[in-house]
Amino acid sequence: MPADKGLIFNIQRYSIHDGPGIRTIVFFQGCPLRCPWCSNPESQGAVRPLTWTKNGKTETISHWVTIDEVLDEIEKDEVFYRTSGGGVTLSGGECLVQSDFAANLLREVKALGINTAIETTGAMPLKAIKKVLPYTDYVMFDLKIMNPILAKRVIGDDVGQVKASFEAALATQTAQVTPRVPLIPGYTTKPENLQQIADYVHEVGINEIHILPFHQYGSQKYEYLKRNYTMKETPLLTEQEVDDIHQFFTDQKITAIVSGLE
Ligand code: SF4
Repeated sequence: MPADKGLIFNIQRYSIHDGPGIRTIVFFQGCPLRCPWCSNPESQGAVRPLTWTKNGKTETISHWVTIDEVLDEIEKDEVFYRTSGGGVTLSGGECLVQSDFAANLLREVKALGINTAIETTGAMPLKAIKKVLPYTDYVMFDLKIMNPILAKRVIGDDVGQVKASFEAALATQTAQVTPRVPLIPGYTTKPENLQQIADYVHEVGINEIHILPFHQYGSQKYEYLKRNYTMKETPLLTEQEVDDIHQFFTDQKITAIVSGLE
């Protein structure tokens, strides 16, 4: 993977969902997982430029960019980062798939005095997160399916790898780490999975998590990609169901904050 160029599919300015304050989000192409609920299905798979067909037109949805090109976009909103306590977040896909580019970009952003964050699910060998941690102020770390056999079968995830990456982030003592749990009916919200998440965060000494209720915002993208979206008929969680999960974590002495978007 090149260290001086990255393949990205979006730069979103003025986000308030992906870390503190007003942020610019850089969406990285590529993800080794296959979560059936993924709201960015265009990011899945290898790091390669992709096209989709939208309103009868074929569009290229990811582009190679240099660090300077991304920095030019980022610097446009420096004043907002300063006044809101915001900054820059690398998202995806899984930004650790392009860990050399991610590390170089984060280093340059940090050198400008701008707060840096990553959204990750840690689904890469440990060395990937170790490259970016020295330049990362805030890690939003998704914990999904914790049973190793189910995780491997359903989303292609290696729970051992996830835990190793999570614990490496915690061990830095410099990055703030927030575990996030996407609440996906039939998958992550099963009682035994929630219990395994609670047990794990206790084990690593954390008492606060963010919970992100399931949404359907990405469903149209599956049509553009001519892919079947298996969760189209899955209803959103009711307020009561989210409250019950919140209460479950409260009973476990874990503060659960209902948070933005998965
Ligand atoms: S880890 Fe995120 S980007 Fe990758 S498949 Fe799952 S939801 Fe999609």
